[in-house]
Amino acid sequence: MNKEKLGRIIFIAVFAVLVFLWGINIRNSEETHVTGFYMDTYIDCTLFGKVPDGLSEEIGSTLEMLDDLFNVNKKDSDVSRINNGAGEFVEVSQHTSYLVSEAKRIGELSGRALDITIYPVVKAWGFTTGENRVPGPQELSALVKTVDVSRIEVDEAGSRVKIPEGFMIDLGAVAKGYAGDMIKEILEECGVNRAIINLGGNIVCVGSKSMGRKWQIGIQSPYEDRDIPGYVQVKDQAVVTSGLYERFFEENGVKYGHIMNPYTGYPVDNGISSVTIISKDGLYADALSTAIFVGGEELAEELRKSLNFEYVIFCGDGKVKTSEDAGYSYIVK
Ligand code: AMP
Ligand code: MG
Repeated sequence: MNKEKLGRIIFIAVFAVLVFLWGINIRNSEETHVTGFYMDTYIDCTLFGKVPDGLSEEIGSTLEMLDDLFNVNKKDSDVSRINNGAGEFVEVSQHTSYLVSEAKRIGELSGRALDITIYPVVKAWGFTTGENRVPGPQELSALVKTVDVSRIEVDEAGSRVKIPEGFMIDLGAVAKGYAGDMIKEILEECGVNRAIINLGGNIVCVGSKSMGRKWQIGIQSPYEDRDIPGYVQVKDQAVVTSGLYERFFEENGVKYGHIMNPYTGYPVDNGISSVTIISKDGLYADALSTAIFVGGEELAEELRKSLNFEYVIFCGDGKVKTSEDAGYSYIVK
């Protein structure tokens, strides 16, 4: 073979490889959206790369299944059956017993800043029906006697849950975190290893951006402007925010938020406007964003001694506090 011919063959071969790699790159940068409304929440998953058939249906049916278990307003949900259990053990799904026992663990670890037995209080303020009212001090002091997460029992087999008579649980502070983790698991099982799951503001990042770069996740301002003043950079982590602005009502010029102090029965009023938690585990991120909204920076630092997470707290005075000292940075735009 003469030199010229060999050169031409090598050129064609290299060209073919480049076209092939370019093809792979295009396939990998394909973007698919799966959207829907489940668990009272708008969900939007952005998936990168090849997506198997039927994935959208699988995500939808998983979220419907979880809503059937966790929705406190559905008569036959596991949560309603636990609440109507009259102080007896109630048979529940493994999803429910796992979520209840993890919420109990973080509830106890947080000194009951997170307390899923808060439901009687949340209900009294009308946050479940949208018919908000301000309960009287006597009503609230009676209701907080039925709030104590340490009184929940999960049997060893993890198939039954019991709460004292008169108690009621609400998984609103943790359910979306668990659902996000489940969707992530589904995606990874079918080979989708690059995605952003947005479950009503609870963000779960699957893998990293192309070339191993970090995702930039904007954090919404909790103030009137609703701007995105800054962002965090993450890889394979969840970013979950609890904010005063999410759900509240106003009466006689006073703003009442949906996150309650389990000791007083009153909405938390500690100057914090929002708490964002960054963690590998979406369920922890959700549980901790609510807990730290109640307990503030002091609780955040205390919990960081035993749990692995970062935080960004927007204080009412416009200051932003982060776990920066541990090498974490919230980047202001
Ligand atoms: P999140 O938006 O994840 O912070 O969850 C807030 C929801 O959790 C509220 O709408 C209530 O249903 C419930 N909740 C309120 N206060 C607490 C609390 N201290 N512990 C656990 N759940 C709470
Ligand atoms: Mg939460």
